[in-house]
Amino acid sequence: MSQFLAEKYKKLEAYVPGEQPRDMEYIKLNTNESPFPPAPSVVDVIDSKQVELLRLYSDPTCLKLRQKLGDLHGLKAENVFVTNGSDDSLNFIFMAYGHMGAMFPNISYGFYKVYAELHQVEYTEIPLCKDFTIDHNMYKGWGQLIVIANPNAPTGICLGLKEIRQILENNPKSVVAIDEAYVDFGGESCYPLIAEFPNLLVVRTYSKSRNLAGGRLGYVLGNKDLIEDLEKLKYSTNPYCINRLTLLLGEATVDANDYYVDCCKEIARVRENTTKSLESMGFEVLPSKANFIFAKTDVMDGKELYLALKKKGVLVRHFDKPQIAQYLRITIGTQEQMNEFIKRLQEILDGGDK
Ligand SMILES: *Cc1c(COP(=O)(O)O)cnc(C)c1O
Repeated sequence: MSQFLAEKYKKLEAYVPGEQPRDMEYIKLNTNESPFPPAPSVVDVIDSKQVELLRLYSDPTCLKLRQKLGDLHGLKAENVFVTNGSDDSLNFIFMAYGHMGAMFPNISYGFYKVYAELHQVEYTEIPLCKDFTIDHNMYKGWGQLIVIANPNAPTGICLGLKEIRQILENNPKSVVAIDEAYVDFGGESCYPLIAEFPNLLVVRTYSKSRNLAGGRLGYVLGNKDLIEDLEKLKYSTNPYCINRLTLLLGEATVDANDYYVDCCKEIARVRENTTKSLESMGFEVLPSKANFIFAKTDVMDGKELYLALKKKGVLVRHFDKPQIAQYLRITIGTQEQMNEFIKRLQEILDGGDK
């Protein structure tokens, strides 16, 4: 750190992304990416002509993409805000609505805390129940921004529409942001509630269920006035934050929706198979509706197991946090990858490799 950094950022602890080691070829089950490529029709939209057009700025209004996303959800373009990945959206949400404070679960997506600290937002971390579920009745604020990942990460556990509705009804003075990064893998989206609740924001990403993590595209659905607020902040930061190529990929992705629905179904199928295999090996697996599972065993320490798997060429995610240190978060890959994962895991448990 230099002596020049503003005082207010000196204590900021930045988000730590999942590792991307290059020392060997890993089965990469640590950052919840899709094991599948984008749809063929999406891959085909980029040619040299599109690259040449990069001399021109991208459309800062992203109108075509917003119209397509609006149509997809029965909303209008004015209800859609698009950003460079959904982390970017979350950043704007904390910037815009955090001044009265914020509430989010104590075990959830690590970035919420980072954004809160970045924007000097006072935050309350609401504890999860013993079984790692969210008690929706604990979210009662007086204007504090409420942020909940549904399904939650890294647990994979879902809240139903009824509970989300209850949170909205209990908090008419708060903006309620539901982060649906993983909803397409088996959860129930709450975007139909937007018509009823002017304080609801639904945050979505192309990174997980749209096989486009490296393209960096996310969006928010919500009431027109909220979307206007977020646009204002985006135009005050970096209006061209989505590049021309990603805009084209994003539009083509909406057109290829059926392909992605099939990918999600396959992930859900492999998730259930993997859960069964792990359970038969004595693991406890939380009931996940996401493209990852959160699991632990009593016969080996979580961190040790993570390291043993890494040595065997399988990357999973371990969080050094007391309540969840025994668990591993395992992204669901292809069935072949998961078979290989189970095989190497069994070898570790059988001994010799500990
Ligand atoms: C992955 C993830 C995001 C952000 O993903 P982007 O790649 O920035 O779109 C947001 N929320 C949760 C809960 C996530 O797991």
